[in-house]
Amino acid sequence: TEERIFNFNAGPAALPLPVLQEIQASFLNFKGSGMSITEVSHRSPWFDDVINDAVDRTKRLLGLDERYHVLFLQGGASLQFAMIPMNFLGEGKSADYVNTGTWSTKAIKEAAILNKAHNVVASSEDKNFSYIPNDISFNADAAYVHITSNNTIKGTQWESFPDTNGVPIVADMSSDILSRPLPMDKFGMIYAGAQKNMGPSGTCMVIVRDDLLATAEKDLPSMLKYDTFVSKNSMYNTPPCFGVYTIQLVLKWLEQEMGGLEKMQAHNEKKGAMLYEFMDGSDFYRATAEKGSRSLMNVTFRLPTEDLEKEFIAAATQKGLGGLKGHRSVGGCRASIYNATTMAAVEALIDFMTAFKKKQ
Ligand code: PMP
Repeated sequence: TEERIFNFNAGPAALPLPVLQEIQASFLNFKGSGMSITEVSHRSPWFDDVINDAVDRTKRLLGLDERYHVLFLQGGASLQFAMIPMNFLGEGKSADYVNTGTWSTKAIKEAAILNKAHNVVASSEDKNFSYIPNDISFNADAAYVHITSNNTIKGTQWESFPDTNGVPIVADMSSDILSRPLPMDKFGMIYAGAQKNMGPSGTCMVIVRDDLLATAEKDLPSMLKYDTFVSKNSMYNTPPCFGVYTIQLVLKWLEQEMGGLEKMQAHNEKKGAMLYEFMDGSDFYRATAEKGSRSLMNVTFRLPTEDLEKEFIAAATQKGLGGLKGHRSVGGCRASIYNATTMAAVEALIDFMTAFKKKQ
């Protein structure tokens, strides 16, 4: 493992080393099957055990009661932008959306393409999406309220979730799922592309509650209908087997090695605080998100000039600190410090940042 870098990629992103090692060790002969997990049938006891364990662990970690269904779908988080309005915005229904950045904007765009009634009830676009809006007035008759819990590109995160007067929140948690415990009562649905906190890209976890499901449209293509996957334990067609397997191992790591979501949250808070405190005490590095809205997963920051940023990213890469370039749409720098990022990685980053500043 010596050749492995400190990986600050935004997604696909670093996974826990014990998970990668277990995949490697079990790859040629999964549980005595004589096959790898990418070769066994999804209609076999081997895969049944994998998917059922992944569902059970998700339920335990998040404290989900029997009203919630855990699904593994394909098409990434992006397909959900369309599936949500298709399923939950039939005739006469409308949804509220909060726009906190690139991914919220894309979710809103899909509702518009489908000609579904929706209101953008708040937006932080006025300040380049550097904060999370508060004091939002939601429509009491909305079918759902859509939010993006963590904004991967702009580096902001909802610290707590708004009171929507009982309207179910539908949250894109692609970049902070399983990073903290959640007040599940507020959520009718949570969805997340796997490639940040859970596993390989292409698999999307969906957690959906019965009362929201009951409102879903019936006349939809099978593959675009949540009911199809609820009734078949995510196996209407061939599921993304390798993705589900990796997620299962990450969930096991979260429970057994990290001690659950409260401990995971404490660890994430410690890592984030270290990095933000370092930057707040610096006249060279500047965090771009407003205090109170800062993400513990994607720490976005700037240096005094774009030339210095280029130099910084190149020098960091040379030292084995990868993935620090900001998203191409915003520039600057970004350190993604998801669940699997160790304290040692954050310390190495701060050491590097200190040394780089000194050289100027
Ligand atoms: N939502 C958020 C918050 C994201 O960060 C991303 C990916 N970076 C997506 C949605 C899109 O995910 P996918 O590529 O799996 O469709």
